[in-house]
Amino acid sequence: MAEPSAKIIDGSAIAGSITETVRAASDALTAAGIVPGLAVVLVGADPASEVYVRNKGRTAAALGFHSVQLNRPATISETELLALVEELNQDQAIHGILVQMPLPSHIDPSRIIEAIRPDKDVDGFHPINVGRLATGSRGTALVPCTPAGSMILIRHALGADIAGLRAVVIGRSNIVGKPVAQLLLQENCTVTIAHSRTRDLPGVVREADIVVAAVGRARLVRGDWIKPGATVIDVGMNRIPAPERGEGQTRLVGDVAFDEAALVAGWITPVPKGVGPMTIAMLMANTVTAASRIAGLPEPNF
Ligand code: NAD
Repeated sequence: MAEPSAKIIDGSAIAGSITETVRAASDALTAAGIVPGLAVVLVGADPASEVYVRNKGRTAAALGFHSVQLNRPATISETELLALVEELNQDQAIHGILVQMPLPSHIDPSRIIEAIRPDKDVDGFHPINVGRLATGSRGTALVPCTPAGSMILIRHALGADIAGLRAVVIGRSNIVGKPVAQLLLQENCTVTIAHSRTRDLPGVVREADIVVAAVGRARLVRGDWIKPGATVIDVGMNRIPAPERGEGQTRLVGDVAFDEAALVAGWITPVPKGVGPMTIAMLMANTVTAASRIAGLPEPNF
C-alpha cells in the first residue's frame, strides 16, 4: 500500500499555542483591571449544544475569564431572550456574548443575532461584522471562529503568502463557507465557492491548491478529487456508526476521505484534532480581542 504523502496539520497543537497567546493577553488585561468576560446563553437542552456550551465555559474559566453560562428553558419567548441579550449588552463585566444555535423554532435566530452588540458578537454573525469582513475592515470586525481558525491552519501549512493560489470552498453557509471564502479572497486567493448545486464538483476541486470542505457529509471528498500537493482543510464533523468499537458506538469523521486524500495532498487536517480545537481557541481569542477593543487597549495578534 502507498504511504501517505501529506503532512498532518495538528490542530490541537496549533490551538494550544493560540490559547497561550490568549492567556498572556488575558493576564495583561486582568493586570490592567479588565477581566475578559464571556457569556454563553443556552436555550433548551439539546445534548450536543450542552456539550459545546460546557466546553466553552470551562475553557474560558481555565483562562481566567469571567465565564458565565445562562441556561434558559426551550419555552422562553423571543421577547424574553431579547431582553436577556440586552442585559448582557449593558453588562460592563461581559465583553463577549454567544447565543448557542440552534434556537427553538418559535425564535427567529436573526433577530437574536442582530440584537447582540456588534463589538461583543464573538461569534462574528452580526450583519455589521459580516459587512466589515466583506469590506475588508478586519481591524474592527469580529470574524467567525471556525473560518478564522481554518485560516490559521492554512497559514501554518503554507506560510503567510498565499496570494494567487486557487482555493475551493465546498459549502456556502453563513457560519463557515461564506466567511472562509471572504478570508481567502482577502489573502488574494482566486476563490471558488462550491455547493450542493455545483456541477462537476470533483472537477472543480481538482483545480484547487487549497480545499476547504464544510458540508456535513462523511467522506464526500475523495482522494482522486485532490490535486497533488494541495492543502486540505476538513471542517466537516460527521458521526458515523463504528461497530468495530462495539455495539451502538460511533466515531467522528470529516467531509474528506482522509485515508485517500492523505496519499495525494501536501497538507491535511485530521478529524478529530484538526479544525475542531481551533474553533474554541478562536472564540477565546475573539473574547480578548473584544475586551481589548472595548477598553481602547492594543489588541493581541493571532
Ligand atoms: P450547513 O448545513 O449550513 O451548510 C452545508 C453546505 O454544504 C451548504 O452550503 C450546502 O450547499 C453544501 N452542500 C450540501 N451537500 C453538498 C454536496 N453534495 N456537494 C457540495 N456541497 C454540498 O453546514 P455548516 O454549518 O456550514 O457546517 C458544515 C460542516 O462543518 C458540518 O459537518 C458541521 O458539523 C461542521 N462544522 C464544524 C465546525 C468545527 O468546529 N470543526 C464548526 C462549524 C461547522
